[in-house]
Amino acid sequence: MARIWLDDAMLVDPEAPGPAPGSLLIEDGAIQARFAPGDPPPADARRVSLDGARLAPGLIDLHFHGALPAAAPHDAPGALLSASALLARHGVTAFLATTVAWPERELDARVETLVAALESTPWPGAIPIGLHLEGPWIRAAAAGAQPPDGIRPYDPREGAALFDRAGAALRLVTLAPELDGARALETELARRGVRIALGHSLAGADAVAASIANGAQHVTHLFNAMGFTRHRMPANDAPIDGFAGLVLGEPALGCDLIADGAHVHPDWLRFAVRAKGDRTILISDRIDVAASDRAGWLGADRMRSDGVAWRLPDGRLAGSLLTLDDAIRNVERWRVMGFHDAVAACTVRPARLLGIERERGTLRPGARADLAVFGADGTIAATWIEGREVFRS
Ligand SMILES: [Zn+2]
Repeated sequence: MARIWLDDAMLVDPEAPGPAPGSLLIEDGAIQARFAPGDPPPADARRVSLDGARLAPGLIDLHFHGALPAAAPHDAPGALLSASALLARHGVTAFLATTVAWPERELDARVETLVAALESTPWPGAIPIGLHLEGPWIRAAAAGAQPPDGIRPYDPREGAALFDRAGAALRLVTLAPELDGARALETELARRGVRIALGHSLAGADAVAASIANGAQHVTHLFNAMGFTRHRMPANDAPIDGFAGLVLGEPALGCDLIADGAHVHPDWLRFAVRAKGDRTILISDRIDVAASDRAGWLGADRMRSDGVAWRLPDGRLAGSLLTLDDAIRNVERWRVMGFHDAVAACTVRPARLLGIERERGTLRPGARADLAVFGADGTIAATWIEGREVFRS
C-alpha cells in the first residue's frame, strides 16, 4: 500500500501537553512515523498538505445509540451502516453500538444480530468496535427514558448466555450497583475483561464501594439518570439520592458527560471536569429517530426533538442530537475545556478505558491511521480511517 505523508499539520497529540507543528507518515493503514518541521521528508511517499490544519486521532464515541433503539430488530445492520457513514462526517472513527433495556428475549435476539453485523466489513466510515449494554441491569427509579418493562435484576443464567453470545464484542456495561445480583454481574464482567460503568442509579456509598472493589472504573453520563446531593447531607445518606455527589468525589471513578447544553448545564460540566480531570470523557448518547419509526423503543412516534435533544411528552430527556465534534466545540465555547483537552476526552481517554490505546485514540507510531482533521472553525475538514480518507468537507 502507498505511503502517504500528511505534511504541514498542527498535530493534536492527546498524550502531549499541547498541539505542535509536524507531520505523519502513514503506511498499511497505520501511523508509521512522526516528523518535526524541517526533518528530511520521507522517501517515496505521496505528500498531502494539510495547510496547518489541526490533525487529531479519530474520535471514539463510547455511547452511541443511533437508530438502534427505534429500528426493528432486523434493521440493526442498516442502522449501523448509516451510523458509520454519519459519524465519519463528524470525525468519529470508532464507536460502541449501545443498547437499551430490552426484555430478555429481545435483548438476546438483538445482541445476536448486532454481533453478526459487527463482523461485516468494510464499513463506509466509522467502525462499530463493539457493544455497550446500557442496562437492562439498572434502577427503575433512575431509568431516564429507558424502557421500564425491560429493567430487571441480574440473573446469572441470562447473563452467561448473553455474554457468551456477545463474546469479545462486549466492551462496556452500564449497571446500577445497588441492584440485586450486581456483585455477581460485576464479577462475571471482570472475568471476561468487560469494562464496568455505574449509572442509572440511586446507590449509596456501600454499594458504590462494593462495585469499585469488583472493578468498576467509570460513571455513565454523570448527572443524568441519577440523584444529586444536597450540600448539607452526607452524599451517602440513603434513601436520599446522593449518587452524583458521591461518585464526583470518588477518585477511583472516571466519568463521561453529554455536552449538549440540555443534559447538563455548562457550569456543572465545568465542575465535573475539575473533579475528574483527565478521566473525563465526552460521549454523544445520540439517538436517531426517523419519521417512519413507529415500532421500536417507547413508541418513537411520541419522541420529539427540541433542536438540541429528544424529549418524551412529559419533558423527560431521551437522548441527544449530538456528535462528538459538536461536543468539542461546545465545551470550548463554554470554557469547560480547551480544545486540546476536549480532543483527549474523545480519543485517548475512551481508548484507555477500553484498554485499546495501543491501536486507537493516539498519534503513536504503530497505532491505526484513524484521524480527524479540524478546520479553523472547529468543524471536521476530513476523516481518515485505516490510512484512507473517507470524508472531506
Ligand atoms: Zn444512552
